[in-house]
Amino acid sequence: MPSIVIIGAGFGGLGMAVELQRNGFREFTILERAADLGGVWRENTYPGAACDVPSPLYSYSHEPKPKWRQRYSEREDIYAYARGVAERHGLFEHIEFGAEVSAAEFDESTGKWTVLTSDGVARTVDVVISAVGQLSRPAMPDIPGVGAFGGESFHSAQWDHKVDLAGKRVACIGTGASAIQFIPEIQPQVAELTLFQRTAAWVLPKFDTDYKPVHQRVLIEMPGMPSAERFSWWAIGEFVALGLVEFPGIIRLVSGMAQRHLEEQVTDPQLRAELTPDYPIGCKRGLFSNDYFPALTQPNVSLETTGISEIVAEGVRTTDGVVHPADVIIYGTGFKGTEFLWPMKIRGRGGRILSDAWEGGAHAYLGITVPEFPNLFLVYGPNTNLGVGSIIYMLESQARYIRHAVQVLAERPGQYLEVKADIEREYNDALQERLSRTPWNFCSSWYRTASGRITNNWPGTTRSYRRRTRRVKLSDYRLTGAG
Ligand SMILES: Cc1cc2nc3c(=O)[nH]c(=O)nc-3n(C[C@H](O)[C@H](O)[C@H](O)COP(=O)(O)OP(=O)(O)OC[C@H]3O[C@@H](n4cnc5c(N)ncnc54)[C@H](O)[C@@H]3O)c2cc1C
Repeated sequence: MPSIVIIGAGFGGLGMAVELQRNGFREFTILERAADLGGVWRENTYPGAACDVPSPLYSYSHEPKPKWRQRYSEREDIYAYARGVAERHGLFEHIEFGAEVSAAEFDESTGKWTVLTSDGVARTVDVVISAVGQLSRPAMPDIPGVGAFGGESFHSAQWDHKVDLAGKRVACIGTGASAIQFIPEIQPQVAELTLFQRTAAWVLPKFDTDYKPVHQRVLIEMPGMPSAERFSWWAIGEFVALGLVEFPGIIRLVSGMAQRHLEEQVTDPQLRAELTPDYPIGCKRGLFSNDYFPALTQPNVSLETTGISEIVAEGVRTTDGVVHPADVIIYGTGFKGTEFLWPMKIRGRGGRILSDAWEGGAHAYLGITVPEFPNLFLVYGPNTNLGVGSIIYMLESQARYIRHAVQVLAERPGQYLEVKADIEREYNDALQERLSRTPWNFCSSWYRTASGRITNNWPGTTRSYRRRTRRVKLSDYRLTGAG
């Protein structure tokens, strides 16, 4: 049986572990840098943090939960669900917490990986599976003077709950997925809220609801219902995903919905104009909220669209020279999404360094395997993020594919598996060609590198990805005997 290290105990790592275990592979260790599991749902404790995918779909297919409290679960419920899955499958005994992987090195003579954690411990294994996520490292903006601020400041993913916002002047920088969730929560408490907006966000209505006991009972008592409910949400997501790549008419429909939502919620023509995006919907991930726009119309809120020139001791200076005084600055500035596997130093066959191989932007066959890095598999790797839909669906496709690869290795002891360079190149050329026709090219976002390459998103439906990842095609790979 191959020995395996999984890096990361978020939904990706946990799902991978369950998939391995259910198929008889028990020799795995999950290395998690934090003191707890849950990934982004452990880290992002900001007020209002919640899912934008209905829970019947944002959950493992093998672990349906009939008793979700609401359609779009809050982060506490998702985090508790992740812990429940880990408990039921006995995963805690496989996890080493406080184990941050700093490096991994492949040895051709033995066909094994040596995985190093920052405490200096080295582990030698046959297979390394990285499940470190795409959004596990907060990004601070490149604004001069960030350290000069005299008040309290923090990133939304590192929310400082000790800071009391009541009666304070708060500056929020950024208008992405996190900001639109926490702004309506903090607006009623603060004295003044200045929201610094670089790009307006397309916001759709959120059709959220509390699940009634009768709904929960139907799911428990009628065996096919959880799958049917999951399927319906999946089909809606697939329909919209088709619009992103194949049928722009669908996207126009969604765009009209977002436009109407803004018009209904914001009557002031100037504010409405400032909140109208100048790029097509779909270019950034769709946002859902019923209370974001209403919060911005409140008398204690001002929207600032002038660019920021620097942070000063008293607050935020904009390019027109005005200083906007603040007691607290909250950075809702997202994550370093394009820096895959960073800052781990991964050394593959022939001493090849992964960050060198990815110099122009990360790429991998099916987002999972990279030439010259045998027996290294990526969960939520390059070009496997979605513009719409549940990431968990993608993680499950990857887990199955990787488990199949592990089976291949188990049947051939002493051999290692490496994707062929030409197969990976052809795959990526076709992928980039398809990506060039998507709306993701029309704005800057965390889906793209500074040079504009789209390294994060999958240009298609989740079904098309699942079809491609159903099984490992051995002709795509080279099997080599160690030594
Ligand atoms: C605020 C927020 C909201 C989101 N909402 C949605 C949503 O509504 N729908 C959706 O589909 N997706 C959403 N996502 C995307 C989310 O990233 C995925 O859905 C999914 O949770 C990714 O799981 P993961 O395990 O791949 O990554 P993560 O959850 O990021 O987990 C990675 C884990 O790896 C650990 N790790 C990282 N580096 C190392 C290292 N060197 N050594 C050891 N451990 C390491 C981290 O500590 C972390 O626990 C959201 C993301 C964020 C940040």
